[in-house]
Amino acid sequence: MSDWFREDLHPHYAQSHKVEEVYYDSKTEHQRLRVFRSGTFGRILTLDGVVQTTEGDNFIYHEMLTHVPILAHGNAKRVLIIGGGDGGMAREVLKHSAVEHVTMVEIDAGVVDFSKEYLPELSQGAFEDPRLNLVINDGALFMKETDDTFDVIIVDSTDPIGPGEVLFTDTFYGHAKRALTDGGILVTQNGVPFMQGDELTNTMRAFKALFADASCYLATVPTYAGGPMAFGWGTDGEARHVSVEVLQARFAAAGLTPDYYTPEVHKGAFALPGYVLTLMPE
Ligand code: SAM
Repeated sequence: MSDWFREDLHPHYAQSHKVEEVYYDSKTEHQRLRVFRSGTFGRILTLDGVVQTTEGDNFIYHEMLTHVPILAHGNAKRVLIIGGGDGGMAREVLKHSAVEHVTMVEIDAGVVDFSKEYLPELSQGAFEDPRLNLVINDGALFMKETDDTFDVIIVDSTDPIGPGEVLFTDTFYGHAKRALTDGGILVTQNGVPFMQGDELTNTMRAFKALFADASCYLATVPTYAGGPMAFGWGTDGEARHVSVEVLQARFAAAGLTPDYYTPEVHKGAFALPGYVLTLMPE
């Protein structure tokens, strides 16, 4: 690897990270997996040339895709993570002592194995938590076949290219909806709207057809370049409208000590700027 890693996720824009040390660079069963260290973000995991997560800023992404739906729900006991092979999502979900069971469906065992070895900071022992049930499978196949139900479903997938593509389809979303309990919430990694607006529009169109409440919320994660990232939100319940006072009480009771999430940030994240609103289907 040259002394710069260049990410070519977008057709007319690229970002580069200076490579200080390479830990792993090879093909897994499904993807090309690289782990290297950058001076700014620490260790970085890339799959098929796309930055997946970094030691430096993963807290923003993982806190916002877990604490927002779990604290909004208020009584989440069974959580499903689709993807999430680096273990960061499981780490944050398992901080909620009221969560009794987490199923994590990751297609690529190599991502789990190499993240455990080269990025232990991400999972921080989550894979050893007795509440975690790790399933190595295609998330779309699992969603189609499962008769299990979940209070919160988190799609922590790669972008809609390669193995991740099936996780952005109406069929997958329909199967996920069927697996939600009453008032259950589906949240999704939905790209950076300024760069990947179509992704958000397509997901929101599918969510609008499936859920009484289809929306998204935002957080800026520096290595997902191009501005704030969108997280898809779908539920038939009223969880998005929970007051900040209720969130403050639930947050205090959960005893979390996050570096990004606050109840006020939670509520504010759903305030969408004009250019994102225009991406939302009528
Ligand atoms: N934070 C990253 C992002 O926003 O792009 C996602 C990180 S996580 C490493 C993405 C995971 O999704 C990878 O481990 C990848 O193997 C997994 N994945 C991709 N397609 C999948 C599928 N069809 N079923 C289950 N896991 C999948």
